Amino acid sequence: MTNFINFLNQKKYLFYFFILIFFFITYALILNQIKSYAGLKEKNFNTFLKSEEFKNIKDFVFENIRSPYKEYNYTVENKDTLEKVLKKYNISDTEINNLTSKIIKKKLSNISSGSQIQLVTREEKGNKQIISLFYPIDTITSVEVKRNKDDFNISKVILKLNKKEVVASNTIKNNLYSSAIESGVEPNIIVEFANIFGFEVDFQRDIRKGDTFEIYYEQFTDDDNVVRRTGKIIYASMFVNNKEVSLYNFKYANETGFYDLDGKSVIKTLMKTPINGARLSSSFGLRKHPILGFNKLHQGTDFAAPTGTPIMASGNGVIVMAQKYKGYGNYILLRHNSIFETAYGHMSKFGRGIRKRVSVKQGQIIGYVGSTGLSTGPHLHYEVIKNGKRVNSQRLKLPTGKILNNEARNKFEVERIKIDVRLAELRKNN
Ligand SMILES: [Zn+2]
Repeated sequence: MTNFINFLNQKKYLFYFFILIFFFITYALILNQIKSYAGLKEKNFNTFLKSEEFKNIKDFVFENIRSPYKEYNYTVENKDTLEKVLKKYNISDTEINNLTSKIIKKKLSNISSGSQIQLVTREEKGNKQIISLFYPIDTITSVEVKRNKDDFNISKVILKLNKKEVVASNTIKNNLYSSAIESGVEPNIIVEFANIFGFEVDFQRDIRKGDTFEIYYEQFTDDDNVVRRTGKIIYASMFVNNKEVSLYNFKYANETGFYDLDGKSVIKTLMKTPINGARLSSSFGLRKHPILGFNKLHQGTDFAAPTGTPIMASGNGVIVMAQKYKGYGNYILLRHNSIFETAYGHMSKFGRGIRKRVSVKQGQIIGYVGSTGLSTGPHLHYEVIKNGKRVNSQRLKLPTGKILNNEARNKFEVERIKIDVRLAELRKNN
């Protein structure tokens, strides 16, 4: 025993230290238990509130107090109007007309199928009155109707949305679209992303399994953290063709654009492929003409695509010709600047409003794939004409668009660093 006390005296501090550690661990364990129990309880409670059981109890209580008030939840069906819906609840025509005429006057009557209408009525001596009505008219706006004696107060309720910045990235397995959907990116953001990269990447040919993408963009969420709409793309990056291309959203002198690390705008003066989803079927060069049968220089590039596939203007320009022209069939000649013209042949029809002397924007639909003129099947014959000479569009080093210089470049560098820092933070939180 004395030995033991001696031992304690010698190792007193060590002993206290272990006691302290022991209490600390016990404390941490208990705290953790309490926390997880509270979380579980809250979760259970929420599940309970949403459960059928709770609904039954609630209905039972309301049934039994014989309240003159009744609450209805209705899911809007196709072709429903507010008037039609209210008629389902035995409300008098005068009451309905009184309300709906006011709502129509305020242009707040457009309900859409699938949305929820909440209605509260009061029944007195067989006369049913609308007490309140609540329904959404778009993703962020709802209409609230409250009875005020013999009249109604109608007000618009606009959901307060919170801006949130998110980063999504993924490896491409099949195609960009499905891989982006898989990582939770909204479809409209994917389309915008594809447009931004449309000048850099040919989505039909360049993408290989294992290529990657990253998108940093804005979401607007409601208080339940549900995404109500999306905002702008701030940064977009792709690893494709064995190199990484990173593009930054930058606004300067009221013009927004996407620029790469060198401050070069992604928008080139001409697109390589003015058509989506096509297969290159015949390239520029000597070939045996499929109809004429003899060797002839093919002075353009053919893209096979189904009849009706939209054809885009490959750059901003003015239409010089839009008519039937020799073996080209329906043909468009577009002048971009003093150096470049592009031509499009065999179209089934021209785009809306497309005729001589009309200005078009890059990416605008100017016509549709067809097989008019000397052609064996639906395809686009595409020519790039440089200084009056037809050149191979696929080999062409296309001139790039704007490059940021001086003050613009300095501002861009500052903005780019800010985006990179924010991006690194968001990636960490992912
Ligand atoms: Zn051709």
